[in-house]
Amino acid sequence: MSTLLNTPPRRSAHDAFGNARCLVCRACGSEQELGPCYACIECFGPLEVGYEFPRLTRAEIESGPKNIWRYRDLLPVRRDIATIPNTEPGYTRLIKANNLASALGLKALWVKDDSGNPTHSFKDRVVAVALAAARELGLHVLACPSTGNLANAVAAAAARAGIQSVVFVPSDLEQAKILTTAVYGGTLVAVEGTYDDVNKLASEIAGERADWAFVNVNVRPYYSEGSKTLGYEVAEQLGWRLPRQVVIPVASGSQLTKVNKGFAELGRLGLVEQTPYRIFGAQATGCSPVAAAFRAGHDVVAPVKPDTIAKSLAIGNPADGPYVLDVVRRTDGAVESVSDEEIRAGISLLARTEGVFAETAGGVTVATLKKLVETGQLDPEQETVVLNTGDGLKTLDAIADRVGPAATIQPTYADFTATGL
Ligand SMILES: *Cc1c(COP(=O)(O)O)cnc(C)c1O
Ligand SMILES: [Zn+2]
Repeated sequence: MSTLLNTPPRRSAHDAFGNARCLVCRACGSEQELGPCYACIECFGPLEVGYEFPRLTRAEIESGPKNIWRYRDLLPVRRDIATIPNTEPGYTRLIKANNLASALGLKALWVKDDSGNPTHSFKDRVVAVALAAARELGLHVLACPSTGNLANAVAAAAARAGIQSVVFVPSDLEQAKILTTAVYGGTLVAVEGTYDDVNKLASEIAGERADWAFVNVNVRPYYSEGSKTLGYEVAEQLGWRLPRQVVIPVASGSQLTKVNKGFAELGRLGLVEQTPYRIFGAQATGCSPVAAAFRAGHDVVAPVKPDTIAKSLAIGNPADGPYVLDVVRRTDGAVESVSDEEIRAGISLLARTEGVFAETAGGVTVATLKKLVETGQLDPEQETVVLNTGDGLKTLDAIADRVGPAATIQPTYADFTATGL
């Protein structure tokens, strides 16, 4: 009953996009129609989705499916989206990390573990929303330039949706990420260049192939909305409240800005109390253009050439860099970076304290959390959430030299006792 009452009376031609009404320029605020566009026709600024939200209750959300579609009314998707085959990402666990908290000297810490998604990274969230948009826009090929995790997510989602996929990756990517993409079928193209070269090529192809949906290029406004669900879930899983501090990895910066958007929307809709929160960004020093701009007090981000083991975060020219700086400064957060050695130590620390095996991006985030505490930038007395966005099984090389058997013995009791165990 309440669902019907809460549905806004005006159902436009845009039913295909749920409560989304237009694309809004993040630079100049001008509006344009929902379509396969990502740049403002007035100023070439980046576009994001604008909505007319219905009144929504916690109970309505709680009665939805245990995946991102429980938030369908807050996403640019049709109401019956959950009935259409997709990979059903989201509603990953939020664990109270008491051991890691004591190791770091924090009072209350949670790990949001997005390695539990269907292809083991947070990218399944954004791809699910991009795929929904591609369908409504009549685009027939799902494509992307990727640092690895996105390639996994696109290939898997396209397989399940029964549509063609073409993904482009730098040829020096981790072997695991190449295999875990190729296994889903579709077409995988290895490009001899950095991610930024691959991205440039993808933009060029997107301009020529009108029926291809490059999830993070021409349907990027829809894609990035998927990241809001990370913010929604954290708040819902905390019992419908916002955390005081959150640490988020930064590649293009989309995820960080959209977690902020998600928190803000929940507050505006009265689903949580509008309590203050601080957002912190985490980068690898070998690719830390946003951390560098933050430290220097700049508003623009100077591109860098990435050199780090955290390949999933290795975007040297991050599209959302300036918006990350804005969010972090407005919420009294910071952007920090950590070395490859600190990243490896971060992976070990999380695994040994909480039994969570993160990929390099998770190592970046945990190590950055540690550094933020040690440098007094993050308040150890305030409740903190740290995101693990990917699975360590995809980046085994990162820890291959650090861990192994304590002993190798013959199958005899004598040999066993010789180990001193
Ligand atoms: C893509 C990715 C991110 C961050 O993505 P943004 O481009 O900043 O939105 C974080 N962690 C992992 C594991 C990723 O694959
Ligand atoms: Zn504009």
